[in-house]
Amino acid sequence: MKVVKLDNVTKRFGKARGVENVDITIQPGEFFTFLGPSGCGKTTTLRMIAGFYFPSEGKVFFDNQDVTTMPPNKRNIGMVFQNYALFPHMTVFENIAFGLEVRKMSKAEIRKKVERAQAMVRLEQYGERKINELSGGQQQRVALARALVIEPSILLLDEPLSNLDAKLREETRLEIKRIQLELGVTTIYVTHDQTEAMAMSDRIMVMNNGVIQQVGAPEEIYNKPVNHFVASFIGEANVIDAAVEQTEGEMVTVKTADGLYLKGAAANASPNVAYRMGETIKLSIRPETVAEGEGPNQFTAEVQFVEFTGVSINYIVKVGETFFKVMIVNKGNKVLERGDQITLHIPERSIYFIGE
Ligand code: ATP
Repeated sequence: MKVVKLDNVTKRFGKARGVENVDITIQPGEFFTFLGPSGCGKTTTLRMIAGFYFPSEGKVFFDNQDVTTMPPNKRNIGMVFQNYALFPHMTVFENIAFGLEVRKMSKAEIRKKVERAQAMVRLEQYGERKINELSGGQQQRVALARALVIEPSILLLDEPLSNLDAKLREETRLEIKRIQLELGVTTIYVTHDQTEAMAMSDRIMVMNNGVIQQVGAPEEIYNKPVNHFVASFIGEANVIDAAVEQTEGEMVTVKTADGLYLKGAAANASPNVAYRMGETIKLSIRPETVAEGEGPNQFTAEVQFVEFTGVSINYIVKVGETFFKVMIVNKGNKVLERGDQITLHIPERSIYFIGE
């Protein structure tokens, strides 16, 4: 279990920016995720922790040890890649044992450790199987066992579930989480899948264009996004421009371009919001917080699209020129059709003001 510290790390590729000023401290035993769209710099950041890239600027520390330019094989890191990077013609046992043989351990010691790792990922019966005789999910487990068998102080996982189908992905993410909690190993996980990040992580670092957008616990990032990018990248959000119309005590009233007045709590806002009369700010409203029927911030809209998922009825409705995503939990309520009118309201606490 180690603290991983990135001290103002920048990586450039020639003139191109990989990542800029990444400054984070990952706590011992933490499950920490780098999340963002393709090309945002997740893998580049991970590679600097692994030692495959050295930073252009800044430093990397494991506990108090400066490892900025230490070669990968000296870092005691376990790593799982998207494509697993297993040896296809070797057995499960041989694949898992590989890292230990490099370390010149005794045969008996190796057997003990490999069997323990196989048990951890529930592949006790598969030791003699060749990799190319395994399913994708089983290969993923071998890759995980191979990373864990060296008893790493840090575990790095780069999109380890992307080659699995949806159902297996959900099962395997629980499995990874179980093992991580059992071992308490500091874990850094890379994904572009926000559901995966939310479900697994203690904290998430959201990145875009090589720059950190926000670092926080899943509920913090979801409920208190710092900007438009985070609000719309994590889950669904209605992000709407509106002009500040009135501030009264703790409440703010804004007016949208379609003349809709919406009232929310001034404090329910990202840190950079200033309320200046007549000036435009952004609101983020989660589709699942918009409710059917009468209440505060009430309006009537026309149903444009209907999507029945079983768990919920998802509508896109139109009010004036604005489209609004609404998610109603399915309790057997009537499913409306395109062209129907719907009365909706937004609880005041569900309006979140964002600065940019
Ligand atoms: P993905 O999810 O697609 O893997 P990512 O978030 O991991 O994306 P990175 O691979 O870290 O993104 O890339 C960040 C930026 O750095 C991109 O603009 C990429 O083109 C650039 N980059 C990454 N590696 C190199 C390299 N070896 N040479 C030049 N540019 C690179």
